[in-house]
Amino acid sequence: MHEHTMEQLWSTSQLSGGNVAYIEELFETYLRDPNEVPEEWRNYFDQLPRVDESTSVDTPHKPIREQFLLLSKNQHRSRPASQGSVSSDFERKQVQVLQLINAYRGRGHQHAKLDPLGLMVRESVPDLDLQFHGLSRADLDTVYQTGSLFIGQAEAPLKDIVDALERTYCSTVGSEYMHIVNTVEQRWFQQRLESVRAHPKYGEEVKLHLLERLTAAEGLEKYLGSRYPGVKRFGLEGGESLIPLMDELIQRSGTYGAKEIVIGMAHRGRLNTLINTLGKKTSDLFDEFDGKASYQSHGDVKYHQGFSSNVMTSGGEVHLALAFNPSHLEIVSPVVEGSVRARQDRRKDKTGEKVVPVLIHGDAAFAGQGVVMETFQLSQTRAYKTGGTIHIVINNQVGFTTSKREDVRSTEYCTDVAKIVEAPILHVNGDDPEAVLFVTQLAVDYRNEFKKDVVIDLVCYRRRGHNEADEPSGTQPLMYAKIKAQPTTRTLYAERLIAESTLTEEYSKQLEEEYRTALDNGQHVVKSLVKEPNTELFVDWTPYLGHEWTTKADTTFDVKRLQELAHQMQEIPDGFQVQRQVEKIMEDRRRMAAGAMPINWGFAEVMAYATLVDQGHAVRITGQDVGRGTFSHRHAILHNQKDGVAYSPIANLSADQAPFELYDSLLSEEAVLGFEYGYATTTPGTLVIWEAQFGDFANGAQVVFDQFISSGEHKWGRLCGLTMLLPHGYEGQGPEHSSARLERYLQLCAEHNVQICVPSTPAQVYHMIRRQAIRPLRKPLVVMSPKSLLRHKLATSTLEELTDGRFRTCLDEIDQIEPEKVDRILMCSGKVYYDLLERRRAEEIDNIAIVRIEQIYPFPAKQLTKLLSKFTNASEIYWVQEEPMNMGAWFSSQHHMRRVAEDLNPKLHLKYAGRDLSASPAAGYMALHLKQQEQLIRDALNLAG
Ligand code: AMP
Repeated sequence: MHEHTMEQLWSTSQLSGGNVAYIEELFETYLRDPNEVPEEWRNYFDQLPRVDESTSVDTPHKPIREQFLLLSKNQHRSRPASQGSVSSDFERKQVQVLQLINAYRGRGHQHAKLDPLGLMVRESVPDLDLQFHGLSRADLDTVYQTGSLFIGQAEAPLKDIVDALERTYCSTVGSEYMHIVNTVEQRWFQQRLESVRAHPKYGEEVKLHLLERLTAAEGLEKYLGSRYPGVKRFGLEGGESLIPLMDELIQRSGTYGAKEIVIGMAHRGRLNTLINTLGKKTSDLFDEFDGKASYQSHGDVKYHQGFSSNVMTSGGEVHLALAFNPSHLEIVSPVVEGSVRARQDRRKDKTGEKVVPVLIHGDAAFAGQGVVMETFQLSQTRAYKTGGTIHIVINNQVGFTTSKREDVRSTEYCTDVAKIVEAPILHVNGDDPEAVLFVTQLAVDYRNEFKKDVVIDLVCYRRRGHNEADEPSGTQPLMYAKIKAQPTTRTLYAERLIAESTLTEEYSKQLEEEYRTALDNGQHVVKSLVKEPNTELFVDWTPYLGHEWTTKADTTFDVKRLQELAHQMQEIPDGFQVQRQVEKIMEDRRRMAAGAMPINWGFAEVMAYATLVDQGHAVRITGQDVGRGTFSHRHAILHNQKDGVAYSPIANLSADQAPFELYDSLLSEEAVLGFEYGYATTTPGTLVIWEAQFGDFANGAQVVFDQFISSGEHKWGRLCGLTMLLPHGYEGQGPEHSSARLERYLQLCAEHNVQICVPSTPAQVYHMIRRQAIRPLRKPLVVMSPKSLLRHKLATSTLEELTDGRFRTCLDEIDQIEPEKVDRILMCSGKVYYDLLERRRAEEIDNIAIVRIEQIYPFPAKQLTKLLSKFTNASEIYWVQEEPMNMGAWFSSQHHMRRVAEDLNPKLHLKYAGRDLSASPAAGYMALHLKQQEQLIRDALNLAG
């Protein structure tokens, strides 16, 4: 289509033949950026009529070309002779020069000298050859206009232009920014890079500071290497430039007004960062090596440890927090983002200026792990944005023992994944510390200016194996032969400074000795460390420490105020038109508040939030479709049918209420749940809730449950009050959507690490949610939340149950059954209760009692014993579940139930009624599901059949 139009254009105009390609290129260049064509041509094209840009994001070429076709017929004849003939060789070459400039901007990085070892295999880039653009060495002395090139000259000989381009784009900095569609950002990079040829001239003081930081980085590894030979430390050797990089990042962010920086990183270089960036006391690290750590919790290996400190910058004190990290390399990324967002929300920092996320990645994991992509995808969304993350890849060109390009990834760079959000990528040779400094400044400035993610790809190497006990040359023989001969980054830089007379040998040695002495003394080695930190820079967690799960919470609420709030929530702004079914729900809620209708799940749940924010507890809820609710029960966000505008009644209750934030999330579980974990572990005062669209979706976030939620407190002493609502229930929806995999969470339970609840009434969910916020205990709460119960005619509550009740860990028999008559007790949780109840009523059975266990973990043994003790004549006791026998609560919780039963009566042996063992969580055929369900009800109620 494009070709065809252009052909038409030229064949009907007098500008034809050999000029076609030339004019076309020129015109395309003009469309991309008018400043890139020579002035005379710009003026000419400027005369052409414009299309209405407001109707199109991309300038449509076709109409312009068509206009151009008409105009060119009339106008080109009258162009002044001074504008030159289009067939002029010089003009054609001028355009080629501009295209050469563009080629360097787009692809120069592919020729950049990024690899300190010189082993990186680079693809050939024809676009960077003069010949490719119809130019040759014979043109090198010809003076051309420089177009939009920022080299301070409007015209320059081609050789100077090429020299500037080579130095800017093909030296030790390789910049990728041309994939950014925003012209302002592209121009920003061009200006910043080209004006200094990507290598600003730094003063002596800066250079010596760089050397001092490199000395620290290298010195620590050497020291640990000789004091603890062969002990795993995942040394930074080969990537020492990370330490000056971090130094600049922190200092520069501080000058921009950052108050907190949260860092996520895997194990490589972590000890170095802890000591040389965060200022951990060196003697504390040595104690860990010596096995002298105190055992307050279960602990973790030293290269997973987090840390906090405050450092001074020219912009003031900055709080640094290094997040604890499990061995699952990239999962800390969304956790850090969540922690940052929580801190930004606390500071009402909407733009992200005050709190900066920094993620340090390994090259193999960055390319390989899906959560990296998910985290990028969070970066500009309403619920998860943090004003841009500074990503640093410690690219040592090998992942454990795997380094072949064709094995580790499918794209040229490990950083290509960042392009999904158009993040600029600054590749830099780690052995050029000044270039590292420059790209760091660029990255911090870019984030500050555009509030978006940016990536520094620190191309370096790994001097030793994956860890210090690992021999790398077996798998990477050539690379390690090269590394053996490679002087350290510090050595190279010191030599460079000595050669340019910035440094003397003596001073270089003195720096090394000073650092070693500081280590010998076991002191802090970060000079900017603030010894008495400003504690206002972080949250006081002491009110939340030391509570048991049995801690009481008063979750009652004044009935009048609840009715007022409920009334307000049904008031909508003038002119706001809600959808018909939603109007009906609101009408029902008005009646529920008035006590004229039984309270259902949706009303009780939203009232839990409303009463909490009214009492000053902030609430944040995210997850797929949480505004409405997967099963359409919540309607916490209303949508105006006239213009689609959304309105959140709970966020607009009163001027002095606590914040209520609710966002539909992107379709991610792993990153989103990691984010909410990070948020919850940073903000004890906010009730943080994540809801899975269906319970089985949480499978995709299993690593977050395993490595953070269930064990973070015991490994790292980090409390977390995160609540997860996981829809669960056997309703014939097939193998996946029936089960939230209760058994998985129960398997992770020990030492009262999490709470697992299966509330079965609206009042129960109301009090469970309120309890989670009101009592100072900060423990994760996993909820098997219902689906059909949301509308079940028996799953209702009264207003009094909401206002005066509390969460009950077990629920007693509700029918008028005489306890003495009971010879069989059924214990169950969730939806199956109603199936049992209805059938028992239908069959008029009066010798079977049904009690519900609403909190499966921590198991409420005391409360259950109290409930059951009245059934003195019971001879049978069952656990009834819908899940297959190898799933649900049976295997993980039967010992608790058995103990309660046998304590009551040693002859009372626990039995099971439920589905048989099964590989699949549920039947896929409705008929089979119903048959199984019928059978388990019959088994439980002792009915024939
Ligand atoms: P941070 O800002 O994350 O460095 O936290 C500052 C201090 O608050 C930490 O050193 C801990 O003492 C405490 N703290 C932070 N998060 C938690 C948490 N989730 N549980 C308990 N204490 C915490």
